[in-house]
Amino acid sequence: MKFSLVNGQREEALPNLSGKCPACDQTMIAKCGEVKIWHWAHKGRRTCDPWWENETEWHRAWKGQFPDSWQEIVHRTEDGEKHIADVKTDQGWVIEFQHSHIKPEERRSRDVFYRKLVWVVDATRRKTDAAQFRKALEASASVGSSPHIRRVRTDERGLLREWSFSPAPIFFDFGKGPTLWWLLARRAAEPAYVASFPRSDFIAIHHGMGPEGARDFDEFMRTIDELVASYNARFRSQASARTSVQPTVYQQYLLRRKVRRRL
Ligand SMILES: [Zn+2]
Repeated sequence: MKFSLVNGQREEALPNLSGKCPACDQTMIAKCGEVKIWHWAHKGRRTCDPWWENETEWHRAWKGQFPDSWQEIVHRTEDGEKHIADVKTDQGWVIEFQHSHIKPEERRSRDVFYRKLVWVVDATRRKTDAAQFRKALEASASVGSSPHIRRVRTDERGLLREWSFSPAPIFFDFGKGPTLWWLLARRAAEPAYVASFPRSDFIAIHHGMGPEGARDFDEFMRTIDELVASYNARFRSQASARTSVQPTVYQQYLLRRKVRRRL
């Protein structure tokens, strides 16, 4: 973990420091070696949160986009279950940064536990993922008048198959570029959509500084839900395909952006 409680204050790991876990109150030892990033570990045992994954530089870089006070927030339910969210924003959204493989059951448990959850997935972990995703994009169909939103098949192996049907929004991070790829949540028998999405907008929206029509993440999700519903309606019926849907302010912004198809 990045933070531990030292004399009641959240502190980052420094050599020879010990602290207490903010979730279970057990002793934590600062691990300040040369191989792994400096972090805190529970003394003599594994972490108290079975959902916790060892942090990588990638985790730390993402967390660093948000204030310290939003990072590693302990969540407790009334029956005592507790987990440590990577980031919880002022708007009440939990952002989980997922590097390693996660079983579908655990993912569903987290979706239920946090309710307002966004996943950012490290899409660089497996070498095959970028190529598979690119192939899916090449075979994708444009939707409506937006070049950014594509209808994709998800029956191939890889990220799209693993993450489709998640009720929570998913953003794939393919590395250093300015673009994330967003997999729009769907229900069974509905198509899956992906959209390129500026990394800077993702961060700005969670800070309440998103573009007009999507100031904060709740507003953003409402807009997108409407957009997807209109696409699904078109997909289901030729008649509704001829009905023109008036885009909202944020949808217009999405449509106006320059096309970015490369990963
Ligand atoms: Zn603990």
